[in-house]
Amino acid sequence: MINLETPRKFRAFVNQAHQVAAEMLRPNSRRYDLAEHEYPVELDMLAAMVDGLGASGTGSGAGASGVRRTAAAEDGVVNGSNLSSVLSIMEMCWGDVGLLLSMPRQGLGNSAIASVASDEQLQRFDGVWAAMAITEPGCGSDSASIQTTARLDGDAYVLDGEKIFVTAGGRCDAVVVWATLDKSLGRAAIKSFVVMKDTPGMTVERLEHKLGIRASDTATIRFDNCRVPVENLLGSADIDKGFAGVMQTFDNTRPLVAAMAVGCARASMELTRELLTEAGVQIDYDRPVHLQSAAAATYLAMEADWEAAYLLTLQAAWMADNGQPNSLQASMAKAKAGRTANDITLRCVELTGPLGYSEHHLLEKWSRDSKILDIFEGTQQIQQLIVARRLLGKTSAELK
Ligand SMILES: Cc1cc2nc3c(=O)[nH]c(=O)nc-3n(C[C@H](O)[C@H](O)[C@H](O)COP(=O)(O)OP(=O)(O)OC[C@H]3O[C@@H](n4cnc5c(N)ncnc54)[C@H](O)[C@@H]3O)c2cc1C
Repeated sequence: MINLETPRKFRAFVNQAHQVAAEMLRPNSRRYDLAEHEYPVELDMLAAMVDGLGASGTGSGAGASGVRRTAAAEDGVVNGSNLSSVLSIMEMCWGDVGLLLSMPRQGLGNSAIASVASDEQLQRFDGVWAAMAITEPGCGSDSASIQTTARLDGDAYVLDGEKIFVTAGGRCDAVVVWATLDKSLGRAAIKSFVVMKDTPGMTVERLEHKLGIRASDTATIRFDNCRVPVENLLGSADIDKGFAGVMQTFDNTRPLVAAMAVGCARASMELTRELLTEAGVQIDYDRPVHLQSAAAATYLAMEADWEAAYLLTLQAAWMADNGQPNSLQASMAKAKAGRTANDITLRCVELTGPLGYSEHHLLEKWSRDSKILDIFEGTQQIQQLIVARRLLGKTSAELK
């Protein structure tokens, strides 16, 4: 049975993640918010530590790479790397979302590799920092309409097309690229390919300037006659086993993004509570909200919303660890946590007034950082669409 307490075996690890967030991420938050596109060198040491924890087995699932599913346990339950990933990501994003997204070797492409790579590929791409490139100028939410092509030519696939908004696309070692083997076959022909950064024909064209998560680089990448070895196609080359395979990645990555939202929202709530307390606002759990100040009532409502987002996120990750299909729960968690983080972080700015709006505190930054968490890995509207399809038993053709 599911038990949503933090498992005892993860407690030390989660505390460690919190300490790192408090001592390394928070103190550098404002600096890299203001110095967009400057590489946060502090992360190199941190990433080496995370690698060490992963190698020792103490911290399997320390970041985005920890989402590989293992076979379901025959008896009992598993608290595995999906759960430890969301728990550590919550702590790290309590520190800083943009810096977490810039962690070497913990890119969303690493999650894709962990989710669908063969054992041989997993070994070959071990230690590679991989970004994820799905979005194109003419295709975002509707990922089945991808125009980037992959043409088989001897021992290589030849990639042509343009990818936009690639997180860590400038800094990574490789990009996991979604491309179609045959446009006429629709979604079934979409495959993902690991393209190493030095591959001729692959060019990082520019980096975006953004509202939030400015510590994280976001790149436009062009593929022009770019030859990728056939063995870099992730999963099966079989057209019949197409889209479901690449989409499976989202079941693992959406809980991670939900966890980022939960962590960022908690940071905002904690600081807001401190500032409200300093201002003399009392939050009382023993009195009905209608007998408390408007600020206290608002805070209590935010806490309830946050708790729902937190529990849905744990549920989605736990199901992944226990071999249960979790597309519905992953989308519910992402939708709830993304929207809740947007609401909470903005409301915290509102509750704290000029203090929240100014750069004296990080509240205004968190309200900017959280916005993306309701957009990438599928927007709020797309998550709701997926939830509706799953609940009503409709296909994507029947409910658009
Ligand atoms: C900072 C940043 C980082 C990103 N990182 C990555 C990355 O690493 N890799 C990557 O591949 N992509 C990345 N993205 C892209 C992101 O995933 C897309 O922006 C997102 O999926 C939305 O796609 P779109 O921008 O094409 O919007 P569109 O699909 O054009 O949607 C526009 C609006 O219409 C709504 N909408 C669309 N279809 C429907 C529908 N059927 N019903 C109701 N509403 C609908 C959407 O919810 C949205 O509000 C990133 C984006 C940003 C801004």
